[in-house]
Amino acid sequence: MNRVPILITNDDGFNADGLRVLEEALQPLGEVYVIAPDREQSGQGHALTLNHPLRIERRGPRHYAVQGTPTDCIYLGVHSVLADRRPALVVSGINKGTNLGDDVTYSGTVAAAFEATLIEVPAFAVSQQLEHGQADFAAAGRFALQLAQEVLERGMPADTLLNVNVPRGKPRGVRVTKQGKRLYPGGVIERADPKGRTYYWIGGTPAEWEEDPESDFAALAEGWISLTPLHLDLTHHRVLDEVRRWNLEA
Ligand code: MN
Repeated sequence: MNRVPILITNDDGFNADGLRVLEEALQPLGEVYVIAPDREQSGQGHALTLNHPLRIERRGPRHYAVQGTPTDCIYLGVHSVLADRRPALVVSGINKGTNLGDDVTYSGTVAAAFEATLIEVPAFAVSQQLEHGQADFAAAGRFALQLAQEVLERGMPADTLLNVNVPRGKPRGVRVTKQGKRLYPGGVIERADPKGRTYYWIGGTPAEWEEDPESDFAALAEGWISLTPLHLDLTHHRVLDEVRRWNLEA
């Protein structure tokens, strides 16, 4: 195989271990360009920076830290840094922690793959389940290499990106899954700061999800690597006709 340009990014930031493991893992396939946020951008979703200047710091050969979001990294990576060498593939991750179910809409890791797909570069996102707050990225790195090889050889179906989640421990195998449905119990922690003013902290409740044996959640819970094909069309086609029957006039 030719030394094709491969762009990798993440939302955990340029110095994250998962990004290093991904870079190492993909070396055999091409010229790996690391174009990643200069700091953690988890939970930024598909944010694009429009109202302040973006700077790119070159940190070494094919290494760039961007003062922006994962989406900014893909946008600037494809249209500027690699303007004359279009990447054959974008891989985002390896995220420290899963990106399952509806959480993909918050995820900067998955959004980077969304952005690449919008500009018609094949892309996938990889996330690693934690064990006692720690991540072992080795299995995810090996799987990313295998999947990247497959995508480079077969091509990606149109308008599709792949969302990969790797379970803790030794994976039992790979399952192609559906995006699961998370239940949001709405955990909010409310405290008082030293000046007596109230502040809020989102989360604090463990993740729960709807039972569905075909979901990404179920695959992970049973120790399988989950591979979910996603697309960007958020239209809910089944309810189009129902909404068209509403009495609405301009
Ligand atoms: Mn993250």
